[in-house]
Amino acid sequence: KKIGMLLLVLALVMTGVWANGSKESAASGKMTVGVCMPTQSSERWINDAANMKKQLEALGYTVDVQFAEDDVQAQVSQIENLVAKQVNCLVVAAVDSSALVNALAQAKEAGIPVIAYDRLLMDTDAVSYYATFDNKGVGTKIAQYIEETKKLKTAKAEGRSYTFELFMGSPDDNNALFLYNGVMEVLQPYLDNGVLVCKSGRTSFKETCILRWSQETAQQWAENYLSAFYANEKLDIACTAFDGFAYGLRSALEGAGYTLGQDWPLVTGQDAELMATKNIITGYQTMSIYKDTRLLAQKCTSMVEAVLKGAKPEINDTTQYNNNKLVVPSYLCQPVAVDKSNYKAIIVDGGYYTEDQLKI
Ligand code: BGC
Repeated sequence: KKIGMLLLVLALVMTGVWANGSKESAASGKMTVGVCMPTQSSERWINDAANMKKQLEALGYTVDVQFAEDDVQAQVSQIENLVAKQVNCLVVAAVDSSALVNALAQAKEAGIPVIAYDRLLMDTDAVSYYATFDNKGVGTKIAQYIEETKKLKTAKAEGRSYTFELFMGSPDDNNALFLYNGVMEVLQPYLDNGVLVCKSGRTSFKETCILRWSQETAQQWAENYLSAFYANEKLDIACTAFDGFAYGLRSALEGAGYTLGQDWPLVTGQDAELMATKNIITGYQTMSIYKDTRLLAQKCTSMVEAVLKGAKPEINDTTQYNNNKLVVPSYLCQPVAVDKSNYKAIIVDGGYYTEDQLKI
């Protein structure tokens, strides 16, 4: 009998503890946002995650950040786990834009809204909004920089021409083709009229896209190109879509004996990573595309608020981003071209990096 009473008391105490615990979490009312990022191998995604976490926490959310290290299956599992944990909202920057269809269907089934971050989520109707940069604009700005710096408009008449190679983004990232199209809209006429000479002959997206934005592949390609096609003539322009590629180019160019201030080519990039910005200061990279990840996080956070609290998110594009299931309402932030002449005004004065961080 005594043991029976003891068990009863224990059960009551346990129930009390449990009830109290659950009341507490209900009272704190904290909603959880799962933030899935592609990789920590590139600095930008680490900054993106940090900005999202900071801004969401400031609004009272709990944030669960996951990095997939460019492994598609790992990202699928991470999303499935977050769905199982019943997070309130998912923010996803995909490793492979088309590979998450089933995982996102599970989120939809569980009533968890999904927001695409920077990279569009393809072939799914489970996505509510898309926060990104003007991805075609990134390509256009890279190409216009080349056009202006090398004065391509007057080159034909003046009998000038430049050797040129392309290093484009990952074929499974919807952004990469947008960027390529932006580049070619500006530069195709110069390939056609012979002002730009691509000695490898590789100019289509298919021939120039680099899977998973691999720096190593970019370096390997550059090494191969330089020895196969540029033994007698220097490479003038490396049009690359990513700071990581520009780092690969730097190694390949150094290996092939190029010298700064003499025959170093014009090298483009994207993201204005800290190392890239330092390389811009020293001259190993000519320009990059600055994407203020704080601004992107702000726009994305307003989308989280919209799906969870019925607030109105800021949208500025409802036509461009068709994912094969729907045109996803989007906010496109503006990318900015940066080089030696304006990095101080844009990047340092904008509070993105300090002078100290940029010390060589
Ligand atoms: C992003 C770029 C980034 C690239 C490689 C793209 O989806 O838009 O900013 O450079 O991925 O990480």
